[in-house]
Amino acid sequence: MSLCANVTVMSDFQHIQADFFCSEMLHKGEDLAQYVYNVAETRATGTVKISAKCIRTTSLSEEPYNVELDIDPTSRHVISAYCTCVADVIGACKHATASYIVVNRERTESCTDLTKRWKAPSSKLLALYRKGIL
Ligand SMILES: [Zn+2]
Repeated sequence: MSLCANVTVMSDFQHIQADFFCSEMLHKGEDLAQYVYNVAETRATGTVKISAKCIRTTSLSEEPYNVELDIDPTSRHVISAYCTCVADVIGACKHATASYIVVNRERTESCTDLTKRWKAPSSKLLALYRKGIL
């Protein structure tokens, strides 16, 4: 007996393989990635589904596009893609590609995990006052 059949995560995504998307769509999706939100990954027995919403850049007042990606749970390859836009005839529109980009770009580190930069001397100052050289 399985204790939890479905698990939905909204962060800490695992990387998805890119081979489903053509280079032209990857280029278009790059521009749209900033309009993707509500990304969620639902993991069930044998299936992984990623859902997202993508704001329409042509009309902000209309409903956003709903995107779904079916992912192979072991290889993390995209099996199929679905979008509510009119261009979704071949299965991978720019909205689906943008959702893929957001999933792979998502980082779970906070700013305090990185080396601090706000008090670091500029490259010009570092060149003026080199350590170890008198
Ligand atoms: Zn679309």
